[in-house]
Amino acid sequence: MLSLISDVFGGSSAPSGGRSASGEGPSRATSQFGQSGAGARVLPPGKGHTIAVIGVGYVGLPTAATLAHLGHRVTCGDADPAKVAMLQKGHVPIVEDHLEALVREGQDADRLRFVVGAAAAVEGAEFVFLCVPTPQGDDGSADLSYVEAVAKEIGPLLAPGTIIVNKSTVPVGSTLVVERVLGRSDVAVVSNPEFLREGTAVPDSLHPERIVVGADDQAAAAKVGDLFSGTHAPLLITDAATAETIKYASNAFLATKLSFVNAVAGLCEAVGADVRDVILGLGYDKRIGFEYLRPGPGWGGSCLPKDTRALVHIAEQAGYDFSFLKGAIATNDEQFERVVQKVRAAVGDQLDGAVIAVWGLTFKAGTDDLRNSPAVEVVRRLVEEGAVVQAFDPTVDVPLGQESTPVEDLTGWSPLGDSPGSDAESDLVVRAYPDAYAACRGASAVVVLTEWDEFRWLDFTKVRDAMAAAVVVDARNLLDPAQLRRIGFDYTGIGRR
Ligand code: NAD
Repeated sequence: MLSLISDVFGGSSAPSGGRSASGEGPSRATSQFGQSGAGARVLPPGKGHTIAVIGVGYVGLPTAATLAHLGHRVTCGDADPAKVAMLQKGHVPIVEDHLEALVREGQDADRLRFVVGAAAAVEGAEFVFLCVPTPQGDDGSADLSYVEAVAKEIGPLLAPGTIIVNKSTVPVGSTLVVERVLGRSDVAVVSNPEFLREGTAVPDSLHPERIVVGADDQAAAAKVGDLFSGTHAPLLITDAATAETIKYASNAFLATKLSFVNAVAGLCEAVGADVRDVILGLGYDKRIGFEYLRPGPGWGGSCLPKDTRALVHIAEQAGYDFSFLKGAIATNDEQFERVVQKVRAAVGDQLDGAVIAVWGLTFKAGTDDLRNSPAVEVVRRLVEEGAVVQAFDPTVDVPLGQESTPVEDLTGWSPLGDSPGSDAESDLVVRAYPDAYAACRGASAVVVLTEWDEFRWLDFTKVRDAMAAAVVVDARNLLDPAQLRRIGFDYTGIGRR
């Protein structure tokens, strides 16, 4: 069953005039957090619900702060006491624009608090959001152990009628798994997949493009949809399996689009076309659009790699060979190697002993997240071939007075500490530098691996003078080739002349 319930919000994407769940007229908040357009509609005092959010990482924290912003009373429980202590003081442990302000707003309004552990958070909660990791298991499947552990912990503590909302990305059928582990017939379990993007998590949470809720219990699903009514987003209510599939299908599509554009960039190099103009020609077609149509060093991050592999696994288990998606994954693996090949060629086919400067280590700009970062994957391959990598990333915290630091000594490198699901990068022999210029000292080439905007505005004469050879491999097509060539750089981009 699939129904688009647009009138829950008084019209899908209604910019104003919607009706709140309580039947009260909307009170408008001008928001410092959103993009242009309507601000979120905030419930009148006392009309919000009591909500627990379990796991305050990249998804749980923006979710909790958004629910508090909308007028709900939110208690967050996390297993990491250090993270909770930081948050209790109003400090956000991740790099995410506007998040600290949104968290502090909730704390100041006494609608957002943080406690250690799931059990301490769920007392009196009408809704419990699960936002814990679902890392990739050894066989490519999603590991449900964190979700199951929380369900086991809170099962006996929930009040009758509580609604469990699963925001973690989980395979089809996981709602039933949670129901089984909870062992409570008086508690409903609802799937509510999350689509926020790191780097724009706050506007994405306050102004989501859609809210998807899936459950057998349609009344419970509608109640969950109503929690977000202030966001004005279209609400899609469906069954749990469909909601779970929507999340995986969305990420599989985005990954495929990125692999497609990387493949087109490879084609452009082969036939002598310029991928930037090809993208313009493609993107103006509304059926295609510009989003996720930018070549790079390969896709990565905490979601796309594990979710695509999990979907291939889910399909296999169900007897469907998702060869199309396997192709997108294979194209991505090739892309890492294509970037390494460009660097190899740029330094005369000899990486062993070559000093390579690297700008950017996070999987994208606007975050400090290094999980499955394509930049780190490229660095790993360069190091394996004997290159001496000197890296700079704006979110890697280098201790003052130290020009270079082994990766494992860096604070801020892995902001979530031993967060489950994060990849330890400690075996990488790479030195981090405090700024982009310092990283280039004596280098035979500089490789741009993350699209931090600040790299575009550097003094490239200074960069050139610091290097042993003026060579740039721009794996993000971020820089201006004409400007660089004018001052003597050998420039290589992706699919670009
Ligand atoms: P994360 O690692 O950043 O955060 C998870 C948090 O859960 C951590 O703070 C951890 O300490 C806490 N935790 C683990 N076990 C716990 C327990 N038993 N009790 C209480 N807290 C516990 O993970 P994330 O990136 O926020 O991802 C969470 C889920 O959301 C995953 O399923 C992921 O696939 C999905 N998702 C992530 C994104 C994203 O951009 N990161 C986007 C959409 C969906």
